[in-house]
Formats: sequence, structure tokens, C-alpha cells
Amino acid sequence: MESGVTAIAQPLNILMLSTSVGALGSGLGGGVELTLRNIAVELQQRGHRVQVVAPTGSVLTHVPLIEIAGQLQVAAQTQDRTAAIAIPEDAVIANMWQYAHQVQQDYDVLINFAYDWLPFYLTSFFDRPIAHLVSMGSLTNAMDQVIQQVANQFPGTIGVHSRAQAETFAFADQCRSLGNGLDLVLYDFCEVPEERLAWVGRIAPEKGLEDAIAAAYQASLPLQIWGAIQDEAYWQTIRQIYPNAVVQYGGFLPTEQLQRSLGTCQGLLMTPKWVEAFGNVAIEALACGVPVITYRRGGPAEIVEHGKTGWLVEPDSIDGLVEAIARLRDIDRHTCRQQAEQQYSMAAMGDRVEAWLRDVLGEVEG
Ligand code: UDP
Repeated sequence: MESGVTAIAQPLNILMLSTSVGALGSGLGGGVELTLRNIAVELQQRGHRVQVVAPTGSVLTHVPLIEIAGQLQVAAQTQDRTAAIAIPEDAVIANMWQYAHQVQQDYDVLINFAYDWLPFYLTSFFDRPIAHLVSMGSLTNAMDQVIQQVANQFPGTIGVHSRAQAETFAFADQCRSLGNGLDLVLYDFCEVPEERLAWVGRIAPEKGLEDAIAAAYQASLPLQIWGAIQDEAYWQTIRQIYPNAVVQYGGFLPTEQLQRSLGTCQGLLMTPKWVEAFGNVAIEALACGVPVITYRRGGPAEIVEHGKTGWLVEPDSIDGLVEAIARLRDIDRHTCRQQAEQQYSMAAMGDRVEAWLRDVLGEVEG
């Protein structure tokens, strides 16, 4: 390797432990599912041996998968800040990490993708180093505390997706921002869109879908929604707020179908009520040539280039969204695709992740 700056000379044996809130492919794990798949595929492509461990029922192609049975964890974003740690009987998170403990000698490094207390707590009891990819911002005091402890004891092992996400934690400067990346071959550029807007994501209160419905309604455009319904009561409630809005729900689609439909939309609306850690859907839209309108909050605000690949809007301003929708035609769809190619390719992400793992392993630059 010529530079030796980002490459790991020796192929590594890497054990990746998935989120414990849903099976891979269910959509309940949110962006983590795609992130894990892309990192696994890219590291494997670079010659590393990758093994993924995930809850039973998971679907993952082209990467070896070990399915582990047990009860799913409750998603952290549904908990109060002072909530106690909850681990159910026969918990899949416990079963996955028990398995990891048994086989750790076969691996050089473990990567934890679960936003859960247990893997952080267990870190000092493992012989092998654990790199933690934290997928959300600060949500509960117990999680903040245990991540902080790992950050102090094992410097450099805490990865995040954006600076905004890191800054929700008191230990922001101990976090390494890794962004994210996509297999751009899977996303087709669509030059001429149809007269409709898109909203993509888990349907849950923190994602603020009601604002997108309100804005699309005021802009007199149909809104096409894709994503897993995580909170059925919330979904039923927001559907009743604007009974005359033209809202089409397309279900949760695999990437191949999602990108084909998403590409035909004029713009993607992102209306998060929380500090979105990254927002995979933003880069997926850009990859298809779809401009992104997002609140100036969290990860999406670090991705979208205001006036070039979308519009950043005052948080929680429906009027701001409507104004931005009127200016979607000012955005060149080719520029959107180019941004995805330049900043969010698998190669760009792979370089960042490899450099991180190299540091976690304490390897000296070659
Ligand atoms: N997604 C999908 N099919 C759908 C809707 C969404 O595969 O029909 C995926 C999308 O590709 C993205 C994830 O769901 O990877 C949502 O992740 P994001 O980072 O935007 O938000 P999160 O759910 O993690 O808060």
C-alpha cells in the first residue's frame, strides 16, 4: 500500500454485533441496518474476514451471518432520560454478547452497533478490543455514563456519525466522527422527477412526520412515505390531523425498490424533532439526484449544502419548509448525485472505518 495512511496492512478478523432492537432487514433498527451492511461489505471487499451476529430472522446477503435467538430490547429513544436499564428474560443482547465472549479469541476486533448499555458495560471484561459505533445522540443518563466510562478507559473506541451527534454528549471531543457511506451502484440517478415529495424513515415521534405532511399539504403536493411503522398509535394520530392531505404510504421497501421510487420524487423532506445522528436517507436521496430539505438540526444539517444540494430550514418551521419546497427547482439534481459520490461512497467510508479500527488496535502507521 503506497501511503499506508489509511490502510491496514494485515487483513483483520472482525466480529460485528448488530443492534438488538430488531432483526436486520426489518427496518426497526433504523439506519443501523444499512450502516452495518455497508461497513461489513466494504471491509470484506478490502480483504478482511467479517462475521456478523444479529437477532434471529435477520436477512443479510453476501456477508456471513450468525443468528441469535432471544427477546428484543426496547428502543432507547422511547425511554425517559432517567430510565433504569432494562434487560428482559432471555434477552437477545445478552445472548449475542455471551456468544461474542465465547468466540472472541478468533477475532482481532469486535464492533458494537447496539445503542445499549450492556455491550459498553461488558467492554472491560473482554480480552479483545471493542470499537463502539454509537448510532444516536444522548438519550438517557445511564447510557451517557456508561459510554463516558468506556471513552475514558479505552480512548478512541467511540465512533459516531456526525459532530452534531457527538456534541449531545459531554464527552464530544472523545468521539470520532465517521460519517457514513453507500454502495452507490445500487442507487440510480433520476434526472426528471414526478410532481411529488418524499419522506423516508421509521414512523415514530422523534422523526416529526407530521411536519412533512403539513408542509406538503400547504404546498399542494402529494407526499410519498416509506418506512417501518414503529409507533402505530402515533401513525394513526398524525393521519387524522390533515385528512385532506394527499399522503401515500408505500410500506418498508428493500433498498433496490426504495431507491427506484425515491428517485422519482422532487425532493426529500427531513423533519426530525431530535438531533438526528446522521440520517442515512439524506445521502440515499442525494445518490438518486433528489435534493434534501431538512431542518437545520443534527446530522442532516451537516450533509446538505444549503442552496446546492438542498435547503436548510429553521427547525420546526412549516412555513420554512413550504418556502424551500417552492425553491426545489433551483437545485441541480446532478450536483446532488456528485455530492454523494464525492463524500459518501463506500470507499470514503471504508477509509474512515479502517483508520478508526487501526487506531483502536493501536497499530502504527506503515
Ligand atoms: N429504509 C429502508 N426502506 C424504507 C424506508 C427506510 O430501507 O422503505 C431505511 C433507509 O435506507 C435508512 C433507514 O431506513 O437506512 C433509516 O435510517 P436513518 O439513518 O435515516 O434514520 P434512523 O431510523 O436511524 O433514525
